[in-house]
Amino acid sequence: MNIAYIGLGSNLGESRNVLQQALANLAAHPSIHKLEYSRFYRSSPVDASGPDYVNAVARLETPLASLELLHLLQGIENRYGRERPYVNAPRTLDLDILLFNEEINHSAELTLPHPRMHERAFVLLPLQELAPGIVLAQGTLGTLLEQCKDQGIELL
Ligand code: ADP
Ligand code: MG
Repeated sequence: MNIAYIGLGSNLGESRNVLQQALANLAAHPSIHKLEYSRFYRSSPVDASGPDYVNAVARLETPLASLELLHLLQGIENRYGRERPYVNAPRTLDLDILLFNEEINHSAELTLPHPRMHERAFVLLPLQELAPGIVLAQGTLGTLLEQCKDQGIELL
């Protein structure tokens, strides 16, 4: 089994419900096992405008390869009517693979570990809840959180 961490975000529509339903979709999928997830957080957009986000991080186990998991996640995003009018546009649902085992990937479709996760409090804080001992290439979660403590984030 592969172990993956997924970042979930939504800042349009009924964001909490959308995240809850995305998690229910994952939990019900036959190739997704042992789904666990953090509490929900509210965060201000980083490098973008628009309403606040609701964010969470999930951990799961799967026999799927990383690219197959990405496609599964994109299927769930599309179910919630996600459109991509421009980069960092507000979105009803964003599902990113943060970590997939120790895999390093720089393909056109998939970058692993997720290239911006180490500088985003809305990823690091919920990730710390699930896996406080994880150490990224850039440092421990505690060290990295210290570096982005100016980013507005609160527990919902
Ligand atoms: P954002 O970077 O804001 O999450 P999108 O969700 O629209 O933007 O993703 C754009 C593209 O990023 C996707 O088509 C996907 O192929 C690519 N991508 C690269 N690495 C990852 C990853 N680790 N998780 C999810 N998508 C990724
Ligand atoms: Mg994405």
